[in-house]
Amino acid sequence: MASEMLNIRQVKVNDPFWNSRIDLVIDHVIPYQWRVLNDQEEDAEPSHAIRNFEIAAGLAQGEFQGYQFQDSDLAKWIEGASYSLLYRDDPELRKNLRDVIGLIGKAQQPDGYLDTHYIVKKPDKKWQELAHGHELYCAGHMLEAAAAYQLATGDDSLMRIMDRLVDLIRSKFGKGPGQIDAYPGHEEIELALMKAYRLTGKEKYRDLAEYFILNRGSKPGFFNDPRFIELAKADKALDASYYQAHKPAVEQDSAEGHAVRAMYFFTGMSDVAAATGNEALKEALKKLWRSVTERRMYVTGGVGSQGNGERFTIDYDLPNDTCYTETCAAIGLAMWSLRMLALEPRAEYADILEKALYNNVLSGISQDGEHYFYVNPLMLKPDVARFRVDHESVEPSRVKWFPCACCPPNVARTLTGLGQYLYTRSGRRIYQHLYIGNETALGDIRLSCRSSMPWAGEAEITVSAAEPFEMALRVPGYAKDFRTRINGQAAAPNMENGYAVLALRDGDRVEVRFDMPPQVLAANPRVTEDCGRACVVRGPLVYCAEETDNGPLLQDFRLNPAAGIETAQSDLFGGIRTLLVHGTRTADDGDNRLYRPYGEVTRTKADLLLIPYYLWNNRGEGEMTVWMNVKGD
Ligand SMILES: [Zn+2]
Repeated sequence: MASEMLNIRQVKVNDPFWNSRIDLVIDHVIPYQWRVLNDQEEDAEPSHAIRNFEIAAGLAQGEFQGYQFQDSDLAKWIEGASYSLLYRDDPELRKNLRDVIGLIGKAQQPDGYLDTHYIVKKPDKKWQELAHGHELYCAGHMLEAAAAYQLATGDDSLMRIMDRLVDLIRSKFGKGPGQIDAYPGHEEIELALMKAYRLTGKEKYRDLAEYFILNRGSKPGFFNDPRFIELAKADKALDASYYQAHKPAVEQDSAEGHAVRAMYFFTGMSDVAAATGNEALKEALKKLWRSVTERRMYVTGGVGSQGNGERFTIDYDLPNDTCYTETCAAIGLAMWSLRMLALEPRAEYADILEKALYNNVLSGISQDGEHYFYVNPLMLKPDVARFRVDHESVEPSRVKWFPCACCPPNVARTLTGLGQYLYTRSGRRIYQHLYIGNETALGDIRLSCRSSMPWAGEAEITVSAAEPFEMALRVPGYAKDFRTRINGQAAAPNMENGYAVLALRDGDRVEVRFDMPPQVLAANPRVTEDCGRACVVRGPLVYCAEETDNGPLLQDFRLNPAAGIETAQSDLFGGIRTLLVHGTRTADDGDNRLYRPYGEVTRTKADLLLIPYYLWNNRGEGEMTVWMNVKGD
């Protein structure tokens, strides 16, 4: 049975854990990013994004600056800022949004064309550089921004601008005479078109998305683009698979290529499969899901094992220190997981959604909201990261802004848009995928949820509804002794695909309880880098050790998994649960020889304090590791 995604107006997150981050985004990140986009932030790299629109609109003189996809930074900011208005109205922010949308309208050309890189810098190259030009990618992000702005404010001014651009794209691309029969080098417009379709009901959006999805991999596509030919010849990481163009969508059975592209592609593919009932697409998506989550994903929900090509490599190739694990790719995995839940609600999809959000997505942003990781490694030695060429994408600390700034505004829009990820519905059955506190209104059904996640497996949901309905509550994969009560009485739910289904009526109060003791995990022995190692998780959170708590040489520690793990309430970071693990380290006997007979080494008992991975690198720079060596059997 399929289920439908909800729109952002229907669900308002009201949760101590997540609202502290949403507030940070509203109070600091959105204003900060606005200053960056306007080149008003002194210690960040100039963005030039708004300047590019002013030049394209003829309101300023100058050259285009930034990447060819610079427009998308502004688009993601508009999306995040629009969602933030649902939490807190802000007249100044509304005015900034109105003004910048007015500017975007002025930059749009008479035929509907909109992309400042090509308007200002390469007017004779429009629609010719499909492999790397990112025109359709930028159009996709601006279309997502338009949908968000319309949902949040009721104002369709940006959507009308984008509708003209979509009409231009429909006239340019297709299988008709004189049309370009191709697809974008970087997927994104497909999922955006499906968002616009769900919002407006206009079938032209769905049809264009379906065309791009099903056409992917066909030739000539962008195979004649000189840039594609040049890059593919120079580097095998940039062959057709980099763009997921190595096979048609329905024939793909392993996740290949650039990880963000792949995640956005699978997201759009899932949307199209749901809207058109294409069974071949659904079957391919199930294979792709298994490829990612069973063979090519980090324990943190990170994807993309290699910096070169920012891409998937081969099965079980998951190095911890040279990985790519881009914040945007984990956001893409969360988006895709939600679509898989819409295609078929299965708790295993929600387990991955939750894993990505609580680990690789959240680690992308600092506690002060103003520093970001692009790459989220699972192991770091700062001096190694600085020196080694194979670590060149790894930053030892979060940075304020990047010249290629895809991740920071992506985190902002994900946090302010978090409400979209909590539920899906199928008629009068509501699926609750994540235990995140919220207030939700779905027609006559109103839900008020309080939750103690991720620290304790406790949630309480109160219900008001004109008619009875069903609530399908996810049983997380890690949960022990999952139990529910209705109005204080133990309930006996039906179990379906990992959901506990309860019949509810007006006034019911549902309690959810489960245990989530810390768990020591091993990796499949095919993951070379994790052989003889273990990591510790508790509920959705992956834990890590940092130098600031444990001193240097974290890789020398050997965990004794049989010695137990102590969970403690800590005042760190405003109140978290830390874990203490036990093992040994090499005794400091003053012997500094590079090599010595093994029998001369003595080891002493030692403990490591572990904190949730998403919090690492918030107390200065130092070593960090998720995976720990294990004491030999
Ligand atoms: Zn990114």
